[in-house]
Amino acid sequence: MCKDYTGQRFNRLLVLRPAPDYGEGKWWCRCDCGTEFPTSISAVAAGRTVSCGCYRKERARALCATNRRRTTQCEVTFQDGRTERFESISSAARALGVPVPTLFQHLGEKYNGFEVHKL
Ligand SMILES: [Zn+2]
Repeated sequence: MCKDYTGQRFNRLLVLRPAPDYGEGKWWCRCDCGTEFPTSISAVAAGRTVSCGCYRKERARALCATNRRRTTQCEVTFQDGRTERFESISSAARALGVPVPTLFQHLGEKYNGFEVHKL
């Protein structure tokens, strides 16, 4: 374990110098976002650690944005003519006690005594 990783780049990480204070096999790395942190070089070299953690955060954010875009507001008309708006198909499905895919299949038609329309 005395290989010199100085200056090597793995994914978002640039290896700076050994970090013996943090334990065996730990090296200081600088992430593309500017964060410097000591981490296990074997995880970095194997691609298990690809950033300081910002990559995961960005991906989570991107996923959230995707989910927001997929959200479909809908309106449910009940048998008695009452209507109610829902922020998403899934919240409508929850309120009606119906599985989400089932509700999707019956969008825009009468089903089980109610009608669901996208807004
Ligand atoms: Zn980072």
